[in-house]
Amino acid sequence: MTFDTLGLRPESLRAIADQGYTQPTPIQTQAIPAVLTGQDLLAAAQTGTGKTAAFVLPILQTLHATRAKGPVRVRALVVVPTRELALQVEASLRTSGAHRPVRSAAVFGGMRLDRQVRALRKGDEVVVATPGRLLDHVRQRTIDLSHVEILVLDEADRMLDMGFIHDIKRILQLLPAERQSLLFSATFEPRIRRLAEDLLREPVSIDVAPRNATAAPIRQIVHPVDRHQKRHLLAHMLRRDAGQTLVFTRTKRGANRLAEQLGKAGISAAASHGNKSQSQRVRAGDAFLGGH
Ligand code: AMP
Repeated sequence: MTFDTLGLRPESLRAIADQGYTQPTPIQTQAIPAVLTGQDLLAAAQTGTGKTAAFVLPILQTLHATRAKGPVRVRALVVVPTRELALQVEASLRTSGAHRPVRSAAVFGGMRLDRQVRALRKGDEVVVATPGRLLDHVRQRTIDLSHVEILVLDEADRMLDMGFIHDIKRILQLLPAERQSLLFSATFEPRIRRLAEDLLREPVSIDVAPRNATAAPIRQIVHPVDRHQKRHLLAHMLRRDAGQTLVFTRTKRGANRLAEQLGKAGISAAASHGNKSQSQRVRAGDAFLGGH
């Protein structure tokens, strides 16, 4: 399966190639054509399945295809549980829209409201928001949701866990009845099905991730090996395939010992666990993210 059979335009395909994706993930294969035809969608997909691009790519394309002259209005709204996810979705909008950009903004708690207001005033076609902060903007009349054509509820199960159900219901009342709605959740538990019944019209239903399944891009390999050979095998594999690597050990002492042994073998490694101070853990995390 390749991306060019899904109905995406050349600009989207170029952005996909830029990101180094060669094959669509199962959720992308199923969701992209459905979203492009304007249908509602109920998708069970965990983080790591490629679900963000599964809605970002077709939404960008739809917005471009149906763009009219006139003032910039909020035409797509993505509601997410956390600031981290808001930033991730916004980053995906930027990379996937590299060759046909849309104006987008992320609004979430913890950032100054006035700064977000200034950003919103410029006009955005896509807003990615956490529920509480979105309603703050509605109350302050700094956002107008009456022209939303596409709604995405991302990680809906987490939003319900975090007690956002009333905020979500309020947001739904502010949107035009005539719209496309997409609901993403890690599970199809009864409360998600109830929300889906309220929200979606004859949705296409996709279930790519049975509970406890490993996320699609992750390959699992078992190497049976004697205990005393383990660290040599690990060092060998790390040398061969020297990318950033997370290694989990059973004990904190085991982590310390392994980091030391890897260091002696010339492989830069740091241990991180509950006996380390916060600053030591932050340092290890920063070094890891920085690729050291
Ligand atoms: P998500 O499930 O949206 O959080 O995506 C998980 C990760 O998979 C992200 O780092 C994406 O950049 C990456 N990803 C998304 N689609 C693909 C694809 N078709 N091929 C390879 N990686 C992908």
